[in-house]
Amino acid sequence: MFVQHAMGPDGCPPIRVKCTDADCAHDLHCFLENKKMIREGKKDGCRYCGVRPVDWARVHQRNFDDVAYTIRSLNQEFIRYHFWHVAIDQRAINHARRKGRVGIREAAEHRLRKSVGSEHPFRDGRQTPFEGNIIYYAQHATATCCRNCIYEWHNVPKGRTLTEEEIRYFTNLVKVYINCRLPDLTETGEYVPHL
Ligand SMILES: [Zn+2]
Ligand SMILES: [Zn+2]
Repeated sequence: MFVQHAMGPDGCPPIRVKCTDADCAHDLHCFLENKKMIREGKKDGCRYCGVRPVDWARVHQRNFDDVAYTIRSLNQEFIRYHFWHVAIDQRAINHARRKGRVGIREAAEHRLRKSVGSEHPFRDGRQTPFEGNIIYYAQHATATCCRNCIYEWHNVPKGRTLTEEEIRYFTNLVKVYINCRLPDLTETGEYVPHL
């Protein structure tokens, strides 16, 4: 049994989450490899308990027709699960409602290009905030938050620009997240007063 995360008061979800958090007893693992795992050729499993519930070859195909499997797999990692289930802050909800489905998709594509699209993204690993915009939540949930997570989960090598196909795939993953979490968005946006 392995539990490593800062719990909130009395059964509340964790206050702060890190990519290396896990709660193996509840089947929420951490698949980010460390140097020891690479050395020992064990880079496919949980870094704490070693289980290998994910068929990586399948996820690494980046096949949108198989998106349900990819999302089920993402939910077996503690940090992803957290972002698939955590309450979304009001500012982020309002922003998404103003944009609507079409606008938020455009914003997501723009954000992916800017934050992870280039060869060496600015502040890579720390470029995606944890709140304030639904796209940030979606990026952590779908492992498109930094090039390390993109490499681990989607098998896109670091140190090169993302292709148009990859940008499209990641944008679609973000879209799935937003549709799940905010199913009532209008198509083209609506008026929402500022907080
Ligand atoms: Zn584990
Ligand atoms: Zn990341």
